[in-house]
Amino acid sequence: MRLRLWLCLVLAVTASPLQAAERLNVVASFSILGDLVRQIGGDSVNLTTLVGANSDVHVYTPTPADAKTVADARVLVINGLGLEGWLPRLLQSSGSKAQTVVATAGIVPLKLGSDADPHAWQSVANAKIYVANIRDALMSADPADAEIFRARTNRYLDELDALDAEVREAIAKIPPERRRVISTHDAFGYFAAAYGIAFIAPLGVSTESEPSARDIAKIIAQVRSAKIPAVFLENISDDRLVGRIAAETGATLGGTLFSDSLTSEKGDAPTYIAMVRHNIKALTGALGR
Ligand code: ZN
Repeated sequence: MRLRLWLCLVLAVTASPLQAAERLNVVASFSILGDLVRQIGGDSVNLTTLVGANSDVHVYTPTPADAKTVADARVLVINGLGLEGWLPRLLQSSGSKAQTVVATAGIVPLKLGSDADPHAWQSVANAKIYVANIRDALMSADPADAEIFRARTNRYLDELDALDAEVREAIAKIPPERRRVISTHDAFGYFAAAYGIAFIAPLGVSTESEPSARDIAKIIAQVRSAKIPAVFLENISDDRLVGRIAAETGATLGGTLFSDSLTSEKGDAPTYIAMVRHNIKALTGALGR
């Protein structure tokens, strides 16, 4: 008993200076969270993102390397609200002792069908809650760098306030009756609630798979009868079908909205702020007159 206590004391004494010298190992579950952690942690953290740019966090299959990454992590930042369904198994198999930080803690979730809608980051006000949760977790895991995290957070929160104002200003310029799009994505519920753009799902068309010619006919009828000014249909790869919608309805085809993933450095949305700006540009481009 006494020997074990001694061992613990020796381990505790030898472990702490080593950890202080190393950068804090932080793992983020997907690219958007990875960017938020980078903004707060900067060079003071050693950040790994599990689901990288242009990848789908909903249907991810963890690799053996991910198990090692998670096992080595001190802090694991996740979205929660059911987004990372693959995570519990990874955590269990890796034997990770990381402190798990749920970035959405404190956010009142919207519903998506009967489940919680996980896409809370699409409201900039929510992103500020994510950032505060990440800051608190980094500060408590690495008190030596607490003031760095606090300063970086304050600066970034100012940028998010400016971004939120930018979004509101852009949408205010769209005539109210034109603030409606058809979208096959179900990822913009929080954006819609925060900023007053209606995202209408195509009636009777599965959003899971590529629409058939018959689905396209239904979408055309819906766009016409509801006089919807713009259509964002990103899962249609057949240009002829997209062209038919535009030709037969006069609706603008809005291009790409980024929802669940950032792009690589060279893409249009390498950071959270760039992603929101891109989406606003696409929406105002399609809806503004
Ligand atoms: Zn999603």
